[in-house]
Amino acid sequence: MQRAAPQEFTRVLSSMCTEPHPAARDAAERFLATNPGDPATYRTVARLEERAVETLGEIAGLSEPHGYVTSGGTEANIQAVRSARNRRRVEDPNVVVPESAHFSFTKAADVLGVELRRVPTDEDHRADVSAVRAAADDDTVLVVGVAGSTEFGRVDPVPELADVAHEAGAFLHVDAAWGGFYLPFTDHEWGFADAPVDSMTIDPHKCGQAAVPAGGLLFRERAGLDALAVDTPYLESTSQATLTGTRSGAGVAAAAAAMDALWPDGYRREYERAAELASWFASELRERGFAVADVELPIVAASVPESLFERLREAGWRISRTESGELRVVCMPHVTREMLVAFLADIDERRPSPP
Ligand SMILES: *Cc1c(COP(=O)(O)O)cnc(C)c1O
Repeated sequence: MQRAAPQEFTRVLSSMCTEPHPAARDAAERFLATNPGDPATYRTVARLEERAVETLGEIAGLSEPHGYVTSGGTEANIQAVRSARNRRRVEDPNVVVPESAHFSFTKAADVLGVELRRVPTDEDHRADVSAVRAAADDDTVLVVGVAGSTEFGRVDPVPELADVAHEAGAFLHVDAAWGGFYLPFTDHEWGFADAPVDSMTIDPHKCGQAAVPAGGLLFRERAGLDALAVDTPYLESTSQATLTGTRSGAGVAAAAAAMDALWPDGYRREYERAAELASWFASELRERGFAVADVELPIVAASVPESLFERLREAGWRISRTESGELRVVCMPHVTREMLVAFLADIDERRPSPP
């Protein structure tokens, strides 16, 4: 059989994953045969994980973070729900999320047997604080705010959501899986230093430029992580808070290496580049008469005709759509101006000619 080759990134505009940083690639290879799920045996990778959590804490504004490197944002979100459910111990637990929340919360609710209350967002796709307040009650264990939503890159009003959560006796979780490596360089109030946030998802394998799998889960209080721990009879260590057992030392080492190489200046430069690129691309689309949503973080969402979308796909572009149908272009590190110039040329060639 021919040796399989992965796709190239030259036409990938829809993904939230990217080319890993060279230091991350190297670390992933070197730590392939390690298991941070058994930290007393695999001590070096366990130290790298502590270091990765420290840096994630710095990025998110938390000086003594408690957490770990997950398999991704999905695991981190499931675990945040699980921790809140275990700590609150109400009869009939529910979680309140804005409509813009990632589908991993649907999985979390299903696996954990909690009710998911999805409330409408405002006209700009951000969580509507009064709708969240109306949906929360005594059985609410967790309220979720999204900091960098998957479809429109929106940042929810985190301080207000924290107030709503705490008034209801619930915890406040921020999902910054995608946005967390951009937000420190913006004026948004999203992190542990901006509001009484209890937990956060922040993924090195998206904008952190680590190798997959490397997500991040952080708690302000030790008790958040402790609520997840189970006893582990046959390992050298005696308890485990992760959802997975054996897990990827490659992801953990890659996360530590990428953050060592890039935090803060490398990430700042990438944020500035991506933000500039997204606003340029949005204006190019507007000049062509397409309706484009305001750009908040480097995702561009634009209404294009279905037929054009299909023709662009046939031309080899990897593109996706929002639930409401907009073309969505995520300006990840591998997305360059040259790529988008070529993409615009394909749009010009394939769009229906004006009447
Ligand atoms: C990508 C994403 C997730 C899920 O992360 P995975 O690493 O794909 O499991 C969760 N929340 C947000 C906001 C995301 O963008």
